[in-house]
Amino acid sequence: MSTASREFLRNAAEKSADLVHRGIIRKGIDQYNAAAGRGRERFSDWEAARQRCHEIKWEAVNNLDRYLLEFERRVKERGGHVFWAENSEEARRYVADLATSRGVKKIVKSKSMVSEEIHLAPALEKLGIKVVETDLGEYIVQLRNETPYHIVTPAMHLTRSDIAALFKEKLGDVDTDDPPELVAAARRALRRDFFSAEMGISGANFLVADAGMIALTTNEGNGRLSTSLPRIHLVLAGIEKVIPRLQDLATIWPVLATSGTGQPITCYNTLIGGPRGPNEIDGPEEFHVVLLDNGRSELLADVSEREVLHCVRCGACINACPVFRTVGGHTYGTTYMGPIGSVLTPHLRGIKEFNHLSYASSLCGACTDVCPVKIELHHHLLHNRRDAVNASARPWMERLTFLMWGWAVKNPRRYALAGRMARTGMRVLQALKLDGTVLDPARAWTKNHAAPPAPQKSFRELWGKQNGAG
Ligand code: SF4
Repeated sequence: MSTASREFLRNAAEKSADLVHRGIIRKGIDQYNAAAGRGRERFSDWEAARQRCHEIKWEAVNNLDRYLLEFERRVKERGGHVFWAENSEEARRYVADLATSRGVKKIVKSKSMVSEEIHLAPALEKLGIKVVETDLGEYIVQLRNETPYHIVTPAMHLTRSDIAALFKEKLGDVDTDDPPELVAAARRALRRDFFSAEMGISGANFLVADAGMIALTTNEGNGRLSTSLPRIHLVLAGIEKVIPRLQDLATIWPVLATSGTGQPITCYNTLIGGPRGPNEIDGPEEFHVVLLDNGRSELLADVSEREVLHCVRCGACINACPVFRTVGGHTYGTTYMGPIGSVLTPHLRGIKEFNHLSYASSLCGACTDVCPVKIELHHHLLHNRRDAVNASARPWMERLTFLMWGWAVKNPRRYALAGRMARTGMRVLQALKLDGTVLDPARAWTKNHAAPPAPQKSFRELWGKQNGAG
């Protein structure tokens, strides 16, 4: 069992027993589900909109080389720079070299899950560069030295009083739990950072190929301030974020907003295509885009898994997932949590270390039902389980069990004998009250559940008796 797997099981056991935590998450998700439901009803044909988004992303991902090169060409024509990073280390080095060569001391950052994926902020802070998160949820978790709890709502696990106590401790002059006053306090602190930072970093919701622009969507306006006030703007984006045409945004932006937060459209939607032009009075002097691969090309090469790259990071599958609702976001120990995280992470960080996430699912399919780009998430979880078995990445006990089961099931007599032995074993354990102890091979399950009584007869014996053969 991998270290990540052991940690996941330990944290999941702790969090699932924490009813206060579960209550907070349930309340947040229930509010989201109500808003998203109302949002979907605003569409005259939600299913047609989903289908269109699926087709847009299918076209982009299946012609990734063409659209990325088109995007790069147009950005460069406007005086921007594009860097292709094969992995996290290359991306971090590019950002660090750029920042140090330009004398950057402070960076303001709009929300970017790719920056979390490559662990950018700790690398920059080691060089003495201060990195300030400006999305309110990210700002809160940064003050707590935590990673985001959810890709869309990073501070979902905190109550108003948690945030009030945090601000009182960290921001000094704040002694209130009134939400508008808490927001105003964060705004006052962040304003100073926006005006003093030399570099702004953002993600990109989409890379629009035919316009050569990034499409950025935020609810707080922090994206616009981070990208227009500092003299350098750097964009971090996974290569799968490209879409073919500007007009695709007419469908995909409202669908993303509806699936992400239930809004008809997110408050601030911005298109940025380069540095400040010769006759423009504001905007950055330099514009850089880092296009990150980090395992995505391998996913692209796998035809059965490729559609995972369609993801627009709306978070809807996370909110629909009963496992997430029970164990919470930090338990996953990964940048991307919930169903999409369980599907994606083994590809980005290794099947040996992270295949256990494919089993953190009841395979109910709720994630697939809500995905706005129609990714068949629960099928991909199954594919990952298959890949884990093929890569011999499962625990030796599980592999031995299935080997023995395969040997027994191929012969009716062996199968009947194995069944009798298993029933006898169950009866002995239960008679001696040993189920759930270290002597019980099924203790991972029975230590938290009452074991069912051992059946007196097998299905074959009952069937035979009913049909006159037994
Ligand atoms: S997999 Fe689908 S539902 Fe989940 S975050 Fe991505 S786009 Fe949203």
